[in-house]
Amino acid sequence: MTYGFYFNGTRCTGCKTCVLACKDKNDLSESINFRNVYEYGGGTWTKGDDGCWTNDTFAYSVSVACNHCDMPVCMANCPQGAIEKDADTGEVRSDPEKCIGCGTCANACPYGAPKVDTEAMKSVKCNMCADKVAAGEKPVCVEACPLRALDFGEIDELRAAYGDVSELAPLPAASEPQLGDHAAGGGQASRRRDRGRAEPTRNHVAFRQNTGGGEGGRKAALRDSMPR
Ligand code: SF4
Ligand code: SF4
Ligand code: SF4
Repeated sequence: MTYGFYFNGTRCTGCKTCVLACKDKNDLSESINFRNVYEYGGGTWTKGDDGCWTNDTFAYSVSVACNHCDMPVCMANCPQGAIEKDADTGEVRSDPEKCIGCGTCANACPYGAPKVDTEAMKSVKCNMCADKVAAGEKPVCVEACPLRALDFGEIDELRAAYGDVSELAPLPAASEPQLGDHAAGGGQASRRRDRGRAEPTRNHVAFRQNTGGGEGGRKAALRDSMPR
């Protein structure tokens, strides 16, 4: 059995209740979020020959935490071998006994999921609320969403219920090499490219994504908005 998240971009209002519920459950400091909500928008206004303006503008929010990938690049790049994927649930977790807090996983992850706790010098991230899931409950972020924009469950059941759309702008596609590979060069993008990591495969389904925006723009927008 492999678990995953479902996110419905047509329901989410960007209220960030999911973010705060997660921070509360995990007693996270002000500077660390396991879940993040990104605003994404684009489009243009065009003036017609008759002087009237038309537009194809759009905006929506995306709530994302660790996707507990099938082939996690965080795990592939950890120099300590501190990250493992649970064979039963699919949870990707780091072992605090092995983790040295170097931040390699945080830099490797295309979704900005791991954070380094600089006091403990450990990598920390979403654990899919493993305690609640073991008790047969949903993760706190899913339960807290007032718009029911999130769901969690066995990945095949989610896809049967909601469809198998698994990509959502501006998140990098599961089939794409890296977020940084096609983004403007320099900085973090170049460092990621140099590392030549394995590709991520998301255990994540999204439904009825809104459309619009060029691929380069989507990646650049996500890159620019992700906290590091
Ligand atoms: S690569 Fe990122 S999203 Fe995927 S399992 Fe690792 S931390 Fe989670
Ligand atoms: S599953 Fe739990 S740990 Fe992960 S983002 Fe949701 S509330 Fe936070
Ligand atoms: S709580 Fe629900 S509606 Fe609010 S930001 Fe999170 S996913 Fe979106």
